[in-house]
Amino acid sequence: MQYRSTAGNAPDVSLEEAVVKGLAPDRGLYMPERIGRLPEDFFRRLPSMSLQEMACEVAQSLFGEDIDPEKLRELTAETLNFTIPLVEVTPERYSLELFHGPTLAFKDVGARFMARLLGYFNRDSGDRLVNVLVATSGDTGSAVANGFLGVEGVRVFVLYPKGKVSPIQESQFTTLGRNIEALEIDGTFDDCQALVKQAFLDGELNDRMMLTSANSINVARFLPQMFYYFHAWGQLAATGADMENIVVCVPSGNFGNITAGLIAKRMGLPIKRFIAANNANDVFYEYLVTGEYRPRHSVQTIANAMDVGDPSNFARVLDLYGHDHDAIAAETSGCTYTDKEIAATMKSTLEETGYQLDPHGAVAYRALTEQLRPGETGIFLETAHPAKFKETVEGITGAGVEIPARLAAFMRGKKQSVPLPADFDAFKTLLLSKA
Ligand SMILES: *Cc1c(COP(=O)(O)O)cnc(C)c1O
Repeated sequence: MQYRSTAGNAPDVSLEEAVVKGLAPDRGLYMPERIGRLPEDFFRRLPSMSLQEMACEVAQSLFGEDIDPEKLRELTAETLNFTIPLVEVTPERYSLELFHGPTLAFKDVGARFMARLLGYFNRDSGDRLVNVLVATSGDTGSAVANGFLGVEGVRVFVLYPKGKVSPIQESQFTTLGRNIEALEIDGTFDDCQALVKQAFLDGELNDRMMLTSANSINVARFLPQMFYYFHAWGQLAATGADMENIVVCVPSGNFGNITAGLIAKRMGLPIKRFIAANNANDVFYEYLVTGEYRPRHSVQTIANAMDVGDPSNFARVLDLYGHDHDAIAAETSGCTYTDKEIAATMKSTLEETGYQLDPHGAVAYRALTEQLRPGETGIFLETAHPAKFKETVEGITGAGVEIPARLAAFMRGKKQSVPLPADFDAFKTLLLSKA
């Protein structure tokens, strides 16, 4: 299968090239040239399929033309070596718990798949060294670093803002060593992202080293996120629930996660509609309401992985619906909540149902409580474990949050990072010293 750029000014490329390049040369994002429907029979079997069996079939339909089937099966099963349970919070609202992976956030799925796919493409490429650059406000860095740890022919540079990620998050990408280098930038997350973007545009750097992105602009990170939408549907169908009126709510920042869900729907998954839940960074909500897209600087919130003022994957949403605002708004509604509303939702949900939400899941849960219509059943994506935001969560609910053993293990490691100013020349010099 070929991949085409959303900007429409670059040649189509193979899966390998789309993955290795990350962004198209015309600054567009790659999309699969075709999105085929899965057979009816697949949906009949879905309720009785395991996560791995289901994912292998979906992966086959997406990547089957480009990867040896046995290898594809292997790397898909390896990616999903943890569970993704659907948990009932109330009879109408279910939590899809995406935090049972190694770094306790949904990004583990895409990052683990992408790492294995790059490893697969690299096996035939001699001594090619791919340099993955990733800017992080917390969760992306940990998922990517852990996903790529030890992958042959790949080196990862994680850029993070000094003093602005929690100690738990920092420990997940600064203690690994091997092929993972943490760069502690004296600046903000926006500065980190700007350095990475500038590196991709720098002619000299790109001549001397192969650079790619592991943010959700990369097809290998974003497409595998569709696996768990099928899995959520299958688990709910297995309970005998009425599957006519399923609504899925996704706490959204860069919009990679929800775009994968919209593509799953296009492949035939019977989801009635989606809700894109925003914190105070609500450019998408504004677009739905007004038809105008006005990107701006992000503001800081307690659901900080969603603090995005110009979501990269908005280009893919537009592309998927042929830039038709009404078509987009017909399948997806939006909402926006303040920190106060997010906090109140975390507190009241714990008191009323016993379910502990993290700040991101809370945004989505609140959207379901406000937007679900009679007869509908809602699934929301619980994108991170509450322990990743321990201080925030405990401060709001007053209840203790236990740290899972695999998270505590990171915190015992020794921090290794290189301090750098938020200055492109300094960053470039460091990269070139490793070319
Ligand atoms: C990254 C992230 C999000 C936002 O996902 P997008 O794909 O960027 O929309 C939501 N919640 C958590 C916990 C995240 O880490």
